[in-house]
Amino acid sequence: MSFVKGLQCRECKREYPKDPVHVCEFCFGPLEVNYDYEGIQKVLTRKKIESRPPNMWRYKELLPIDEDPIVGLYVGWTPLIKVKNLAKALGMNNLYIKNDAVNHPTLSFKDRVVCVAVSKAREFGYDTVGCASTGNLANSVAAHAAEAGMKSYIFIPADLERGKVLGTLIYGTNLVGVHGNYDEVNRLCSEIGAKYHWAFVNINIRPYYGDGSKSFGYEIVEQLGWRTPDNVVVPVAGSSLITKIHKSFKEFKDLGLIEKADCKIFAAQATGCAPVTTAIKNRTDVIRPVKPNTIAKSIAIGNPADGYYGVKTVSETGGWGEDVTDDEIIDGMKLLAQTEGVFTETAGGVTVAVTRKLIQQGRIKPDELTVISITGNGLKTREAIEKSVGEAGIIEPTLAAFEAFFSNLKNH
Ligand SMILES: *Cc1c(COP(=O)(O)O)cnc(C)c1O
Ligand SMILES: [Zn+2]
Repeated sequence: MSFVKGLQCRECKREYPKDPVHVCEFCFGPLEVNYDYEGIQKVLTRKKIESRPPNMWRYKELLPIDEDPIVGLYVGWTPLIKVKNLAKALGMNNLYIKNDAVNHPTLSFKDRVVCVAVSKAREFGYDTVGCASTGNLANSVAAHAAEAGMKSYIFIPADLERGKVLGTLIYGTNLVGVHGNYDEVNRLCSEIGAKYHWAFVNINIRPYYGDGSKSFGYEIVEQLGWRTPDNVVVPVAGSSLITKIHKSFKEFKDLGLIEKADCKIFAAQATGCAPVTTAIKNRTDVIRPVKPNTIAKSIAIGNPADGYYGVKTVSETGGWGEDVTDDEIIDGMKLLAQTEGVFTETAGGVTVAVTRKLIQQGRIKPDELTVISITGNGLKTREAIEKSVGEAGIIEPTLAAFEAFFSNLKNH
């Protein structure tokens, strides 16, 4: 049974039926899924959630599909790890990472949004799904379309990392590389979507898609023993994840599953594409679009769809935003790998490096319970670290060769 009443405009509150639409016809505000929270409150308890299998569907009453999901049954419930070595390196006493670098099946948080969107697309009767992607979404849409037996058309900037390209093609999709940045790809997809009857997961299905991200926040709360952290640091592209983490905390509080939801939410971007954190630092909610130029391609969106709400989330919760250079991103990836054995992609390097900056600025305090969001896997962005991790020492297969090599090492 479903608790979805319909869609509602975030701005003027006008209600819409459950359709594949995403913009209010009256005020052009974004549409959001509207749930029957009273009904949910009657049936949903901590105990009931805890009794369910370890995947994101344990929160199914708060996810926007009417029937059982058709794909992605094992997505979510990724590790929330208390990180002692990284904490020490950063001067923190109570630090965690939420590790979606190992989210099933395509190793990024995008599986959370895509399994919802593809299941919803099938409910709407579509046989074809599509997306405009910075890479991880491409991987996930191709994989879930394959699992659903649906056709897919995936549009990416032509210069994405090889890991993202191969990790899409393997699923037998139709992959289109566009000469242009993500914002140009996205604009093209809006035009294509107006002409072809396809479910573009992050365009016409966007209200449903976005709510899959809430599971990232629900899991943090449950894994901490039913409480919100003091701080959460979130990598920002279109601003969907950051706003939905906030929504997840508020929903749990309103449903009485937790007592308080006061968590500061911090936005992390790359300096080469920082429209949201720039607005936060300038204390304005007006986003000035930029042309992306960073190795953090997965979060390189110059004109973020929900950027205004991303800024609002940060200011409402008392958080802040910071950005880091490409060199700092690589340092962040190496720091996480070398302290905790977790290999994240460039976006995770952004979050780690931004967290370090926020601690240095005193905006995050040593004793506060802080969660760093790790949203993607480092094997997909090998190019970023190719020149900064050195090479294997190559030797002949003899003990003498090893010993020569070893004494050389010791001299260093
Ligand atoms: C897409 C993505 C994000 C952020 O996405 P939003 O559009 O802000 O929801 C963060 N990290 C990774 C690795 C991503 O692929
Ligand atoms: Zn409206």
